[in-house]
Amino acid sequence: MSDRKIDALGTDPKVIDGKAFAVKLREKIARQVKQLQAERGFTPGLAVVLVGEDPASKVYVRNKGEQTKECGMASFEHKLPATTTQAELLALIDQLNKDPKVNGILCQLPVPQQIDPQAIINAIDPDKDVDGFHVVNAGRLATGGQGLVPCTPYGCLLLLKDRLGDLSGKHAVVIGRSNIVGKPMAQLLLNESCTVTIAHSKTRDLPGEVRRADIVVAAVGRPEMVKGDWIKDGAVVIDVGINRIERDGKGKLVGDVDYASAYPKAGAITPVPGGVGPMTIALLLNNTLIAACRQHGVKLPD
Ligand code: NDP
Repeated sequence: MSDRKIDALGTDPKVIDGKAFAVKLREKIARQVKQLQAERGFTPGLAVVLVGEDPASKVYVRNKGEQTKECGMASFEHKLPATTTQAELLALIDQLNKDPKVNGILCQLPVPQQIDPQAIINAIDPDKDVDGFHVVNAGRLATGGQGLVPCTPYGCLLLLKDRLGDLSGKHAVVIGRSNIVGKPMAQLLLNESCTVTIAHSKTRDLPGEVRRADIVVAAVGRPEMVKGDWIKDGAVVIDVGINRIERDGKGKLVGDVDYASAYPKAGAITPVPGGVGPMTIALLLNNTLIAACRQHGVKLPD
């Protein structure tokens, strides 16, 4: 990393520190929760449903539960066996939809193969759908309505606005068109008046598309695919990818961007780990807070 610069605080200003941003956001949420408890007499609550024994999902659910409680919110964990039927899961979702103490509901994906994930997502009350995956929330995002926005792209947007301020008129290239990252990311950038290109596996000349971008968001799931010579000088690079690889006989997490070659070209860049990843749970808690305030008909505290 030839042009690495360290400022007086010992940090590299080119690196977008999602971990530090998420800590600050969670501290703000904890203050807002305290204020709601003191002034409005309610505690926002998040229910997380885990079906089966997927090891990665168990870690995510544990982290979500811990961070929910650290922010002073109520955490309701429902762990169901891998043999759970779709009807049983739908019955639990129905019960959570009706529970006034539960303001947000998240069903950890993937679910076992006897269950249709879309049927579960669409059974959640859209106003409690803190993952923002319900078809109604996708529609609200697309049409400018008041909905709940998927956490990972929402986190990317906050990092971009913190770094760049007004995004209007910038050319953004989003690589990936999944319903949970690529499409909502593109929609959010369009709502900020960016000119947006969505690239995917059938895109011709991906390097050429990326070279025109002021903002690059990579959400592909292919380790280190985006190379430094694809990046326009000074572009802001947001790497959503989380890929586990073996290097020098050791396990390592890398993004979808080849960090070593992209760093010298980028104006700012998120590392993996420590960039987008930590933002996702922070935005889940933020969505739970927003959902709770809307359900109680009160303004979000400052
Ligand atoms: P999906 O597999 O659902 O989507 C991947 C997208 O990348 C698809 O649209 C696919 O195109 C496109 N793609 C695949 N290969 C290429 C290629 N060679 N060139 C251009 N585009 C390509 O993944 P997700 O959106 O769910 O996740 C993307 C990455 O983000 C993963 O690494 C995942 O682990 C990570 N992630 C991180 C999160 C976080 O908290 N930081 C949260 C969610 C995801 P096509 O549609 O044509 O097949």
